Amino acid sequence: MARRNKVYEGKAKILFEGPEPGTLVQYFKDDATAFNAEKKDVIEGKGVLNNRLSEFFMTGLNNIGIPTHFIRRINMREQLIRAVEIIPLEVIVRNYAAGSMAKRLGMEEGTQLPRPIVEFSYKNDDLGDPLVPEEYITAFNWASQQDLDEMVAMALRVNDFMSGVMMGVGIKLIDFKIEIGRIFDGDFMRLIVADEISPDSCRLWDIETGEKLDKDVFRRDLGNLTDAYTEVARRLGVLPKTSGTGAKPTLIN
Ligand code: UDP
Repeated sequence: MARRNKVYEGKAKILFEGPEPGTLVQYFKDDATAFNAEKKDVIEGKGVLNNRLSEFFMTGLNNIGIPTHFIRRINMREQLIRAVEIIPLEVIVRNYAAGSMAKRLGMEEGTQLPRPIVEFSYKNDDLGDPLVPEEYITAFNWASQQDLDEMVAMALRVNDFMSGVMMGVGIKLIDFKIEIGRIFDGDFMRLIVADEISPDSCRLWDIETGEKLDKDVFRRDLGNLTDAYTEVARRLGVLPKTSGTGAKPTLIN
């Protein structure tokens, strides 16, 4: 097969030209970065797990009528996606205080918020993805007021879906980040969920023990990241259950 043409390489993924116009191939790397890439490592198996987990969440969203870029998984590390024009914002939804919010407001991590809170960061590595008010977003034309309202509504629907799915497997969804892109159909423009949804972009705590099952394991050196992501995948049925000890779970198709 002909080598794919690389379109873009980010910290955790590579985008290649897709087989048809309007499509891309998204390749999940094993690279892990945190604190704006000041901390870096290669975590064997992370890319394979995130490919599966993002497939799982995006398929679920597609099935309940929240459009996403996901078309189909191609292999262990690659998925076919729709090409979008990414809106340069990280859309963050928080159910419990953690991370930058807990720090900014001096709140204890894990404090339940009075209601889910949606916030936006401007995607710019040089600036460290600063938190921005909605006023900036419309003033600088990153998105219109109508787009913004739709993005908030979409983010809250994603939150309801993700919270429910995770609660079903004994995991609390503390917060998460999504990215949203535009697709054009003639004169018609639509917003769809893009990028990835995985434990790299969520905070996931075990309901019983509070154990962290997300990228904070890497950020804060709390243990083995692949083990944490494998546990999430196993509970969601993306991996077969293993009964014995020491047996490495194998990925199912
Ligand atoms: N997040 C992300 N990418 C980023 C920043 C944040 O996926 O560049 C996710 C992060 O994993 C968490 C949520 O967004 O689930 C909120 O992150 P926060 O603002 O607390 O930032 P952090 O503490 O990760 O710097």
